[in-house]
Amino acid sequence: MRAQPKASHFINGAYVEDAAGAALHSHYPATGEVIAKLHSATPAIIDSALQAAAAAQADWAARPPVERGRILHRAAQIMRDRNRALSELETLDTGKPLQETLVADPASGADALEYFAGFAPTVTGQTIPLGRDMAYTLREPLGVCAGIGAWNYPIQIAAWKAAPALAFGNALVFKPSEVTPLSALALADILTEAGLPAGLFNVVQGAGDVGASLVGDPRVAKVSLTGSVPTGRKVYAQAAEGIRAVTMELGGKSPLIVFDDADLDNAVGAAMLGNFYSAGQICTNGTRVFVARSVLEPFLERLIARTGRIVMGDPLDEATQMGPLVSAAQAEKVMGYIARGVAEGARLVCGGKAAGGWFVEPTVFADVTDDMTIAREEIFGPVMSVLAFDSEDEVIARANATDYGLAAGLFTRDLTRAHRVVARLQAGTCWINAYNLTPVEMPFGGVKASGVGRENGHAALEHYTRVKSVYLGMGDVDAPY
Ligand code: NDP
Repeated sequence: MRAQPKASHFINGAYVEDAAGAALHSHYPATGEVIAKLHSATPAIIDSALQAAAAAQADWAARPPVERGRILHRAAQIMRDRNRALSELETLDTGKPLQETLVADPASGADALEYFAGFAPTVTGQTIPLGRDMAYTLREPLGVCAGIGAWNYPIQIAAWKAAPALAFGNALVFKPSEVTPLSALALADILTEAGLPAGLFNVVQGAGDVGASLVGDPRVAKVSLTGSVPTGRKVYAQAAEGIRAVTMELGGKSPLIVFDDADLDNAVGAAMLGNFYSAGQICTNGTRVFVARSVLEPFLERLIARTGRIVMGDPLDEATQMGPLVSAAQAEKVMGYIARGVAEGARLVCGGKAAGGWFVEPTVFADVTDDMTIAREEIFGPVMSVLAFDSEDEVIARANATDYGLAAGLFTRDLTRAHRVVARLQAGTCWINAYNLTPVEMPFGGVKASGVGRENGHAALEHYTRVKSVYLGMGDVDAPY
């Protein structure tokens, strides 16, 4: 087995196995080959992870922030030093081309570690003058946090949750997707090597039931989920039972609007990045591409020509631009949507076929209307829908006519139009003349059904700390009895 870890779980600074847990296999999506055999966490494993986290957290929170930051800085450096090995592991686990993982996955995780390492020592409270008296605030960690990840960006998701949680003095128990269990363990190795005390970053494997055990545990103060809307509804409801804080990074059906004055080559490039990168398995993808009717034909012409040149193949070959879907189930789901698109009358202008194994061709539908299934539901595959529009008001109304609100993008050379339209788009992240760039400095998250809370940027502080208010009485107590 090409990527067998030392054991399934990482708890209290060490690898742990419990063979009583259900078998869990990781596959290389390009071939279906089993690359690692693991076990799901048993209740005893979950309990020991939470216990380790709870035991370690208070000492960690009491350390000077600059010390916590120093450890995370070291971890970022180790991650960068190991970029190739980590990228290869991520490619084996997800099927995403090495061409992508080498620049996007561990690199983005390292950015998060580095950013929050520097952020930690800058966190302060307020002093609040109250005449004779005063008050001040303290920023406190939440305690033990639970992180639950999706399979599309496994190491990035683990690091985007671990970095702020640890920087601000929390402990984390992380459950990766059962489909991509491996790179969170590699992150645990790196953090440990960087000097993170045992118990602060724990990894437990398993499916939704393991996630649910974490969400329902009274030791958990906060849950951060990256996943689909249906899962988000369940996790949010369960967290509400225990009045736990949540961050919900959920799905989307984001609009990308191309106005008639746009630089068409840039718009085509962005539409392709926003639909075919990671074989379309990106939550923020601009899967509804609204194109001004007057530029529709040249847009489609260039899009079809460039899409036809996408190189599919072995993800470990650095020349490969698009790999397979992550699993047979996902490939089947995507093919089902393509069939629906054809049946409902969309015009297939590129791809549309299964390409062997879990590969699906990059696919473009034109003449898509708002009511079609492919324009309403999140597909999470390489399927782009192109829709024509005539006016600014019309396209804004149509862009917003969805339960989702994760992201949106627009291409125009008209600066006033860009800002006017962005102000009216219902989305957590908007891009002007760009798409899908998510630097760690910028807050990230959705509105409407796409989620609550924000990851990254200064906004993350709100989601991994709480405020304690302290009132300081400076005189006698004025009691009427
Ligand atoms: P899922 O919602 O299927 O799963 C997400 C995680 O939740 C998995 O680890 C899953 O376990 C776990 N889970 C499932 N049920 C429960 C439960 N009842 N309680 C606790 N945990 C549970 O999402 P996918 O993994 O299929 O990922 C794709 C989805 O993620 C897409 O909708 C995509 O848009 C979204 N996503 C959102 C992002 C964002 O930041 N907004 C970024 C990336 C993806 P299991 O191992 O069984 O799957």
